[in-house]
Amino acid sequence: MSVLRKQPNVVIIGAGMAGISAARRLVDAGFRNVLILEAADRIGGRIHTVQFGDGKFPVELGANWIHGPTLQNSTFQIAEAIGALQPYRINNRMSSRFLREDGVEISREIIKEAFHIFNRVLDEVYRTIINERLKHGRIITFAPLIFESLEKELQNVKADDSYIKDMQKALKAMTNHCRFHEGDELERITWEKHEQEYNIPEGGDVHIPGGYAQIINHLMKLIPKKSLMLKKEVVEILRSDEIIEIKTRDGSTFEADHVIVTSSIGYLKKHHETLFKPKLPQSKIDVLTSLELGRVNKIFLEFDQPILAPTYRSIAFAWDDTSIKNVQNDWYKRIFGFDQIFTKNNTLLGWIAGDAAEYMETLSNDEIGKICTELLRKFLGNRNIPNPKAVLVSRWCNNPYVLGSYFHQSKRMIPGEQMILSEPITTPRWTF
Ligand SMILES: Cc1cc2nc3c(=O)[nH]c(=O)nc-3n(C[C@H](O)[C@H](O)[C@H](O)COP(=O)(O)OP(=O)(O)OC[C@H]3O[C@@H](n4cnc5c(N)ncnc54)[C@H](O)[C@@H]3O)c2cc1C
Repeated sequence: MSVLRKQPNVVIIGAGMAGISAARRLVDAGFRNVLILEAADRIGGRIHTVQFGDGKFPVELGANWIHGPTLQNSTFQIAEAIGALQPYRINNRMSSRFLREDGVEISREIIKEAFHIFNRVLDEVYRTIINERLKHGRIITFAPLIFESLEKELQNVKADDSYIKDMQKALKAMTNHCRFHEGDELERITWEKHEQEYNIPEGGDVHIPGGYAQIINHLMKLIPKKSLMLKKEVVEILRSDEIIEIKTRDGSTFEADHVIVTSSIGYLKKHHETLFKPKLPQSKIDVLTSLELGRVNKIFLEFDQPILAPTYRSIAFAWDDTSIKNVQNDWYKRIFGFDQIFTKNNTLLGWIAGDAAEYMETLSNDEIGKICTELLRKFLGNRNIPNPKAVLVSRWCNNPYVLGSYFHQSKRMIPGEQMILSEPITTPRWTF
């Protein structure tokens, strides 16, 4: 007896990089009934390329770089194939210049030593986190480990008072960088590198000058137009032995044989109890409890004239004190610094993480622009810097379909547990 296989209906929830990549793979493999339901009115999710600033190149409100520009990395492969990497630029944090509150630059000698100390401390922190968990079953976060180790390292630096003071300031700026790199306050983050979960190829971080959206648009090219519906927030996924029923906020329903969910950790943490019927297996809920979506935002300032170029590629704010007593008053102390956007002359990009990144979302672009300009005047020692002509700020914490930036492990860490989230949930009908 011959069995004619029916083409299965596959519904993908979310048109970010994960959803679009899944759809493209299915379409390439010959699946014809593929539908992506996207809550927002655009595709891309945390990839959001927009036109801003002087010159023809766009800016990125979300993902910025391809981490690991090698042919093992499929994003890099696509970007290279479609010519999206020109002009080619690898990010170089080591070239940041560290400026004090009095407008004086800290010497390169001190910065070089501070980088060595900071990297040594980070290696030590990773080792301690692993040892503590393996030996004592204790899970500790980056802070206070980082602060204690930096303090010890500083005591071993043999130099005069002014050298040590500048070193302290540089290390505070590097700690701010670590916050945005790791994605949140260091009191919230723990991390155990695990080969299954996180294996960034070597080679640094490369820019996509014409925008990350080019990758998404390239993947979308072979996906039929009818396979994407925007403004369709899925609010319920009902699994039965027969079929999966999907309900959207606007009252539509869809049926599927298979569903691929690509919502962010932030979205799933908030909505999983109402989204899945029956509810998710406890093993998946446990992972959702233990992962957090961090808080990072970006600030773009466009001026009438160059502010950093040609002297600086990137400046770091070396504050006397970065402690935040009251986030409303001190939020801007979490701004690591500003980068000159290399495809533009007059446009700068600032980074901020943690409580302050979330608080900043309550302020208007205008207020943020004014405060950032004051910071630039102070750290560059130049009262004549004009007000920006335009300000653009990302607001990832309050984006209702994302609710954060990028994930990290929290105090309830089990190495590699992220993989549990990607395991399929099957019903008896699909078990052979
Ligand atoms: C500021 C910032 C900087 C970053 N920098 C980098 C970087 O330099 N390099 C890098 O590799 N990564 C970076 N990232 C991370 C990167 O952007 C993400 O890892 C990646 O884009 C996630 O893709 P995704 O498809 O998994 O999720 P998302 O992009 O979050 O896509 C999920 C999609 O699902 C939709 N959705 C959610 N729930 C529903 C629902 N119920 N119904 C319908 N639709 C739904 C959302 O609207 C969204 O479009 C950065 C992120 C941020 C925020």
